[in-house]
Amino acid sequence: MTKLENRCAYCGGKFGLIYHPHWGLRFCRKVCKDDFLAKTAKDHARMRKWFGMAPSSKERSDAHHQRRMTEVKQT
Ligand SMILES: [Zn+2]
Repeated sequence: MTKLENRCAYCGGKFGLIYHPHWGLRFCRKVCKDDFLAKTAKDHARMRKWFGMAPSSKERSDAHHQRRMTEVKQT
């Protein structure tokens, strides 16, 4: 992967002050991110492999949730 560019991974537009990160990609608008996700939703398993080096906050919270569940079970 090359260095991060200041461009939307979906439409190639430049970012303003705000961008929407996802799986190591960045999108200029929420619409871009949503469209991209809709197109790649079925490939998410592959996406996870490609961007496995950059786990999302959702994945982290899932792991945290699982850990809590385990703790509850063990207690
Ligand atoms: Zn965009």
